[in-house]
Amino acid sequence: MLTLSDSIPCDPNDRPFPIVRVSTNKPLLAVITTSKPLGTRTHYWGQRTVPCTPPECGACDAGVAFRWHCYATCFDHRTQLHFLLELTAAASESIIQYGRDHGTTRGCGIKCSRIPAVSNGRIHIQTTPTDPNKYPIPSEPDLAVLLSRLWNIPLSEIQTPNRTVIIPEISVNRIEEKIQREKKREHARGNGRKDL
Ligand SMILES: [Zn+2]
Repeated sequence: MLTLSDSIPCDPNDRPFPIVRVSTNKPLLAVITTSKPLGTRTHYWGQRTVPCTPPECGACDAGVAFRWHCYATCFDHRTQLHFLLELTAAASESIIQYGRDHGTTRGCGIKCSRIPAVSNGRIHIQTTPTDPNKYPIPSEPDLAVLLSRLWNIPLSEIQTPNRTVIIPEISVNRIEEKIQREKKREHARGNGRKDL
């Protein structure tokens, strides 16, 4: 039997969550609704981001490199959009740290910018607690359910140990070196243009 409803679902898990990435032209302002962000290794394969699913992973078999991505649901009070934010490991560090400091990331106000403002610029996130009376947020969706729908993987096949995000070992020095190299390259390009 088909059941039609004249009201939108109250349960946030019944709604679609668009994925939002930080753009280059303006900062993203929102409040996190997830109490614990979740992350996993992903591949960019078939022109989309897909999770790495060992031991049977088509992208791994095809030799596609993986990256760790963090996911958190966020609410934008200006647009009233409840969305899924996708972040790299380095970008997610500040919100993970906020979670450690406050015991939850829910209610954490974020301002995300790309520095430099180019499509592959590093994402910088400023965090600040928000007043739930002034900025009420929707109830917390089940992040694992959302990701299982996004990637079409049964929930029973998704492991969520304590729903805790484990940031993979990344060398901060290596990241900083990369930023410095990119800055030098940008600078060299700028000098090149001046010489023309
Ligand atoms: Zn894989």
